[in-house]
Amino acid sequence: MTMRKPMVAANWKMNGSDALAKEMLSALASTNLNELDVLICPPATLLHAFANSASCVLGAQNLSEHTAGAYTGELSAALLAAAGARFVLVGHSERRTLFAESDQALAGKMQQAIEHGLTPVYCIGENLQQRQQEKTGQVLAKQLAAVYASHPEFLAKSVIAYEPVWAIGTGEAATPEQAQQAHAAIRQQLAQYDSKAAAEVRVLYGGSVNSKNAAELLSQPDIDGGLVGGASLNAEEFLHICLSA
Ligand code: PEP
Repeated sequence: MTMRKPMVAANWKMNGSDALAKEMLSALASTNLNELDVLICPPATLLHAFANSASCVLGAQNLSEHTAGAYTGELSAALLAAAGARFVLVGHSERRTLFAESDQALAGKMQQAIEHGLTPVYCIGENLQQRQQEKTGQVLAKQLAAVYASHPEFLAKSVIAYEPVWAIGTGEAATPEQAQQAHAAIRQQLAQYDSKAAAEVRVLYGGSVNSKNAAELLSQPDIDGGLVGGASLNAEEFLHICLSA
């Protein structure tokens, strides 16, 4: 049986403040969370507020697919790493939908992250229509193939987040059974690229995780933690979720 260290990640999106960072740090420091990796992804301008914290690791929410240069407003992997990020979300559904990030662009971002020592948290998930049309497996397979078919070696350096789009920010989480089924399918698909890495990679569930549903979701055999949006903006609530993992 492969041991995968659980991870609970906070995605603050375009929210947060220095004050919230302080609250989060003191909540995390109040408890022993050694059995867990706690990842905080604040807006890039708040990375500094978590510098040198022993109770969490830091991630960015996005990065450029380019290395450096004339890309006004963008942040490169190297800049994010220098600001303290060790992880980076890639392909969050809001990036895919609102900013039209293509599979090709996302493959470039994965490459940048890995080349610069950031661990990508590669986010995938079907939308409601795709689920209703029973295309979930197909959609997940395509999103995984876009990165790992040409770069199977990236898998051992990744975290995966399964985030059904219909569950993000809606208050309607996937059921533990739905999530487990998708996670098992993801792991099976990944085994085609690298069976050892597929058994070892952490697959997080995201989509309306809160302190009430976390324990049951996170206890599923193929669910290795959570990616938490809304509920991560309350330090106490987020701490509860961490303690459920
Ligand atoms: C997310 O944005 O990654 C997310 C899962 O959001 P929420 O927890 O609010 O559904």
